[in-house]
Amino acid sequence: MGGICDCCLGSKPVNTNSSTEILTLRSTDEDTFPVLPTNAEAATLHLPSLHVSANLSKEEPSSPSGKFIITAPHSTCPVDYVPGHPCDLEAGRNAELLHKILPNSTLYIRPPYERAKGDMNRNETWNSPWRVKLREMVQSPDCAGVIDVHGFPPNSSEYDYYFISQDPTSDFSRSISEYVYRECTLAGMVGPEEALKGGENSIMIDAIQFQSKVILIEIREGLSTYKKRKLLEILAAGVRKF
Ligand SMILES: [Zn+2]
Repeated sequence: MGGICDCCLGSKPVNTNSSTEILTLRSTDEDTFPVLPTNAEAATLHLPSLHVSANLSKEEPSSPSGKFIITAPHSTCPVDYVPGHPCDLEAGRNAELLHKILPNSTLYIRPPYERAKGDMNRNETWNSPWRVKLREMVQSPDCAGVIDVHGFPPNSSEYDYYFISQDPTSDFSRSISEYVYRECTLAGMVGPEEALKGGENSIMIDAIQFQSKVILIEIREGLSTYKKRKLLEILAAGVRKF
C-alpha cells in the first residue's frame, strides 16, 4: 500500500445507484468549503427526496439496476483546517465529475465539517444525520449501489489510484475490478492489481449489510486532469457494463 494511510479504505461494499439528482449541500465547485454558521449536521436533514416513484414510473430501459449513490465523506473540511486527518482535497470535485459522467447517479456530499469531530466513514459517526440519511438512501429499492470517493496526498503512495469493490456474490466486484485495472493500465495509470480490503469503512459495511454493491475509489491528488477524467470514465463504464 506504499505510505498511504488506511483511514479512507474499507472492507465492506456499498451499493450505488444512478440518478441525475444532486444531494450535495456544498455551494460551489471549488475545493473551498465555507463553514456554515449554523449546525451543519442539522442541515443534512433537509435534503430533497429521491423521487423514487417518479423514476420507476419512467421504465427506462437503460441502467437496469437503479441509481448509484456517490459519496465523498472527507471532502468538505474547512480550508484552514490543519490538525488530525487531512481532508481529501480533490475528492469533492472528483465525485462531482463522476456524477456528471455516470448517468442517473445521485451525488451525496456532506456539508462543511471538521474531520477531527469524527470520521464520516467510521462507526463513530454512525448515528449522525448524514449517515442516517445515507442508510435510508441505500435501502431504497431504487438504489443500485454506492461509490465512495476519496483521495490521498501525492507523495504518500507509489500508486495513482486504489480501487475496491464488493457485492454480495462477488461477481460484480471481480468483473469490475479486473476491468478497471486493465483499462487503467492501458491508459498509463498505476494501481494495485488487487487492492487491500480495509476493514473499517463504515459506509461500506453498512452497504454490504443491505446487500448492496459498493465501490471505494482513492485517487492521487495532483493526478493530471486527463488521467482523473479517464479513470472516472473507466469506472463509470465498468459500472454500466457489469
Ligand atoms: Zn477519505
